Amino acid sequence: MNVFENAMKQLDNVARIINVDLSILKQPERICEVYFPVEMDNKEIKYYKGYRVRYNTARGPAKGGIRFHPNVNREEVMALAFWMTLKNAVVNIPYGGGKGGIVVNPKVLSETELERLSRNYIRAIHDVIGARIDIPAPDVYTNPKIMAWMLDEYETIKGRHEKALITGKPISLGGSLGRIYSTSLGAVIITEQYLKKHNISNPRIAIQGFGNAGLNYAKFMYEKGYSIVGISDSSTNLYNPNGINIEKAIAYKIKNKHLKGFDGAKEVESIFTLNTDIIVPAALENQITKENVDDINAHVVVEIANGPTTPEADNVLREKGIDVIPDILTNAGGVTVSYLEWVQNLQGYYWKEEEINSRLKEIMINAFNEVIKTSEEINSTLREGAFVLGIKRILEAETYRGRVRNGPYS
Ligand code: GLU
Repeated sequence: MNVFENAMKQLDNVARIINVDLSILKQPERICEVYFPVEMDNKEIKYYKGYRVRYNTARGPAKGGIRFHPNVNREEVMALAFWMTLKNAVVNIPYGGGKGGIVVNPKVLSETELERLSRNYIRAIHDVIGARIDIPAPDVYTNPKIMAWMLDEYETIKGRHEKALITGKPISLGGSLGRIYSTSLGAVIITEQYLKKHNISNPRIAIQGFGNAGLNYAKFMYEKGYSIVGISDSSTNLYNPNGINIEKAIAYKIKNKHLKGFDGAKEVESIFTLNTDIIVPAALENQITKENVDDINAHVVVEIANGPTTPEADNVLREKGIDVIPDILTNAGGVTVSYLEWVQNLQGYYWKEEEINSRLKEIMINAFNEVIKTSEEINSTLREGAFVLGIKRILEAETYRGRVRNGPYS
């Protein structure tokens, strides 16, 4: 399944709702595709394919993470860059959207190979990124340590300090307090707003994916007293109707690098068939599809992953009356704290963790309320509401730049 086609189906649907020409958003502004060598520990040289896509920059420099995954491809990076453009507009931070990736399975590389891969990718793309051009960050299978190598390589090439080049860095290199868990904290804030609005108490929660985003979401929700009945990672799906002890599950995952074998829950076929109120896809795209959507019986799907629900599955969920809180709202806490990191880097003055988290909370709650308001106005799903809100902001900027005619703001 081509995720970019799915993303464009979402766009076409919105073009129909607001009856505006959205040609400017049908393709990325720029695609950088690279092929570069990396020396392995045994001195052999291997070659890797990488991408950096700048989708739209009407509202500010491009912004979005870098993914290391064997399934990375041009269309996927384009789709992810498109969603970043919308996400940044939905939370109203002054960025366009971008994304990058390398086709690689990082789990089979040694630490030194991973470092050379990261550095050589930056050598290959350094002239298309920059603190006021396109600002990368972590995504699937990339982390603060990798951001540090990338920053160091860039600063070495340019011969100057440039901390605002990249976000999600270690604190000692200008990273922001709170960034490591901000995607999850943002999703917790959004979940609680939704539960409050719908008067739902004591929901049972199932989470697909136990990487940085899924794990920290589980941790926060567990600490707040919610019952997490299902968790999964690429090794297994686990269920315990009485609630899983998340502290123990996290300790197990950190020790063993996978969840398989954790004895605090029983193994099940799928996380989506469980009897729960909230389903949280927090892994990769194309997870809820027309093949498995009939199994879902929750009250709401909270999308922490980017693009986990296909447009066909989205329609079925709508017919079944199951709400979907869309990725471009739910997971925007990550890029929001990235924005706060960038601001701190540019001003050279750093804030306390409480200050960052209270700014995050304010931005997420505003975005939640604006998405609700928009979807009520146009009588639509939350995804359509979020798309319309984001697209209107992008089109307004494009219109003032003179790159769109006959838009809603001409
Ligand atoms: N990769 C994250 C996302 O998909 C964060 C991007 C960023 O911080 O720039 O939203």
